[in-house]
Amino acid sequence: MKKNNAGTEEVIDIFLSEEKFPIAFKAKVDELIGQGWEEAEAREWIPKVTFQMELYYSVDQGLFMVEAETVESIAIFNPYSGDELEECEDSIIEQADSNYYCCPKCGSTDVHIKAWVGLNTSKYIGTAEEERIWCPHCERHFEPVTVEEFKTDGPTEEEGEE
Ligand SMILES: [Zn+2]
Repeated sequence: MKKNNAGTEEVIDIFLSEEKFPIAFKAKVDELIGQGWEEAEAREWIPKVTFQMELYYSVDQGLFMVEAETVESIAIFNPYSGDELEECEDSIIEQADSNYYCCPKCGSTDVHIKAWVGLNTSKYIGTAEEERIWCPHCERHFEPVTVEEFKTDGPTEEEGEE
């Protein structure tokens, strides 16, 4: 399972009322007292706070919710399977972006390279001798550059090959 991308989270607001959720309420009170709050202050403050819960569905197992604020900052585990949720696509692209190869003319990272692939397994074996990339947007072959190089050097003057 993956974490939801920013902006696509499905969120439910929860208020911790002492009558409805006495166990969770008590745990939150104890947490705040541990942080130096007065008990009366904590009891007054907690019911006013909105907890934004992010909803996840683990197929064949069930729903679970995680505080939306924590999803971005810590590792989240599927409580049914114990598996860690993968980072959302947004943050993978953000992290890898500057090392990605792109078209030196238009900067697109949607570029292709010829490769050897197992005929029966479709398993990737390695790149073919041809090291040039194909940009489907420019419809030309180029020497690849990284996104970082593209940002520094700007688009190439080269026309590329068909
Ligand atoms: Zn291009």
